[in-house]
Amino acid sequence: MREIKHWLDGTAVDGTSGRRLPVWDPATGEQQAYVVAATAAETERAVASAKRAFPGWRAASLSRRAEVMFRFRELVDANRKEIASLVSAEHGKTVADAAGELARGLENVEFAAGAPHLLKGGYSEQASTGVDVYSIRQPLGVVAGITPFNFPAMVPMWMFCNALVSGNTFVLKPSEKDPSVSLMLADLLRQAGLPDGAFNVVQGDREAVDVLLVHPDVQAVSFVGSTPVAKSIYRTATEHGKRVQALGGAKNHMVVLPDADIGSAADAAVSAGYGSAGERCMAVSVVVAVGASADPLVEAIRERIGRIAVGPASDPSAEMGPLISREHRDRVAGYLADPGPAEIVVDGRAAPISDGPGFFLGASLVDRVTADSPLYTDEIFGPVLSVVRVDTYEQALELVNSNEYGNGTAIFTRDGGAARQFQYDVVCGMVGVNVPVPVPVAYYSFGGWKSSLFGDLHMYGPEGLQFYTRSKVVTSRWPDPATSEVDLGFPKVR
Ligand code: NAD
Repeated sequence: MREIKHWLDGTAVDGTSGRRLPVWDPATGEQQAYVVAATAAETERAVASAKRAFPGWRAASLSRRAEVMFRFRELVDANRKEIASLVSAEHGKTVADAAGELARGLENVEFAAGAPHLLKGGYSEQASTGVDVYSIRQPLGVVAGITPFNFPAMVPMWMFCNALVSGNTFVLKPSEKDPSVSLMLADLLRQAGLPDGAFNVVQGDREAVDVLLVHPDVQAVSFVGSTPVAKSIYRTATEHGKRVQALGGAKNHMVVLPDADIGSAADAAVSAGYGSAGERCMAVSVVVAVGASADPLVEAIRERIGRIAVGPASDPSAEMGPLISREHRDRVAGYLADPGPAEIVVDGRAAPISDGPGFFLGASLVDRVTADSPLYTDEIFGPVLSVVRVDTYEQALELVNSNEYGNGTAIFTRDGGAARQFQYDVVCGMVGVNVPVPVPVAYYSFGGWKSSLFGDLHMYGPEGLQFYTRSKVVTSRWPDPATSEVDLGFPKVR
C-alpha cells in the first residue's frame, strides 16, 4: 500500500514512527494509502531544517522571493489537472470543485508575487529638525501552519505564500485525511527555486501539532480547523509566546427577505448548501426565510435538490461527492434521526447512494428548525440545510447575531437599503449581498468573528502579510558634530 511521506530539507522522507493512519478513498470506502504520523523528533527536525534555512532565505532579495512565487504560479497552473485529481481522490470532492479550490489558492500566489510593493515601509522626512523616521517590516523566522481536510491545497496556500515571500520559513502540518497534495506543492516550490528547508511538511496528527505549539524556535502559528481545536491551539501557542491566528468553525446564515427573487435565492442556497457536500467553512447551513418568502423558497429548494447528481469524482456528471469518512457520514446522518418538531422535507438517507460502501449521503432539507435544535446549534459540516422561519428582518438579524459563530453570512433582497442596513448591523466577519459564499478575493483578507476566529489578524491578503512580519521603526539623524550638545530633557519633536 502507498505510503505518504514527510517533506524535510527539500526531499520526501519516510516516516519512522510506525504509527500508520489510513487515507481512505471516500468514493469507494476503501483504504487507498497510509500516512505515517510524525514523532516529536521528526517534527523537531522539520523546525530545525526551517531554522537553518531562515537566514539565507531572509537575505534573498525581494525580487528573488517574488520570482519564486511567479515560477510557482506557472508550475501550479501547468499541473492544475493533476493536483485537482489528487485532491478529489483523497477528499472526494468533484474534480471541478477541486479545480475551483486550486484557482482560489492560485489567487494567493499571485497576491504574494506582488509583495515587493506591499512590503514597502513608511518614511517621514524631517519628523524633527534633521531627523527622519521610517518603518520597515521584517520576517518572524520559522512559522507553522496546521490545516484542515476540506481544502487540502487552498488553505495551505492561504498561509505559506505570504509567509515565504515575506522571508519566513515554513513548517506545514496538513490534515492526515488527505495529505498527498501537500507533498506535490512542496515539490513544485522546490522546482520554483525555493531553497531546501524553507518549506517542510510533517504529516500526522496532534502529536506533531503539540510540538509546534510549544517549540521555542516557532515564532507564529496559523491554524484553520474546528472551533474546539482552534481555541485550544490559540491558548497553548499564545501561552508559549507565539503570534497566533486560529480560524474555527462556522454556521453560516443566508437571510432571504420577502422581496428577494425566489428562484435566484433557491439556486444560491442549493449551490452554497450542498457544494462540496456541505464540507466548506463558508457553506450556507441555515436559510433564514423572512415572512412570505418561506413557502415558495422551501418548495424551490426541494425541487432543485431532486436534480443534484450525487456521485464519485470519477463520474464527470457528478455535482456532489461523498463525505470525508464513514464516521463523519454517520454523524451527519445522525442529525436526521431525531429532528424534534422540525420537518424533514428531503431526507438524504433515502438516496440509494447513501447505502453504498462509499461515504455518500444525499442532500437533506429540514424546515421549521428552531434555534434550540442541534440542527441549528451544531456545525454539522455536511449536506444538511436547515430552514428557520422568522417574521421580520429584526428577528433574522437577532438570530444571526446571537449565534456562536460569525464566519460568513449573506442577505438576499432587491432592496439596496435593507442590504446596506444588514451590512451595518450584522456581527460577522464576511458578508455577501446576493452572494451566498462571500470568500474575499486574495487582496482582501479572510476571517470570521466570534468563535470563528481566535486572534485578531485575518488570514491572507494584507492582514496575512501583517501577521507574518513585524514592524520596526527607525529614528535617524546625521548631525553635524559641531552642533552636538548634552540635553537631559525628553526628546521632543518641535
Ligand atoms: P480539525 O479541527 O479536526 O483538524 C484541523 C487540523 O488540526 C488537522 O490538521 C488535524 O490533524 C489537527 N488536529 C485535530 N485535532 C487536534 C488536536 N486535538 N490538537 C491538535 N491538532 C489537532 O478540522 P477538520 O475536520 O480537518 O476540518 C473541518 C473544520 O475546519 C470545520 O469545523 C470547518 O468549519 C473548519 N474550517 C474553517 C475554516 C475557516 O476559514 N474558518 C476553513 C476551513 C475549515
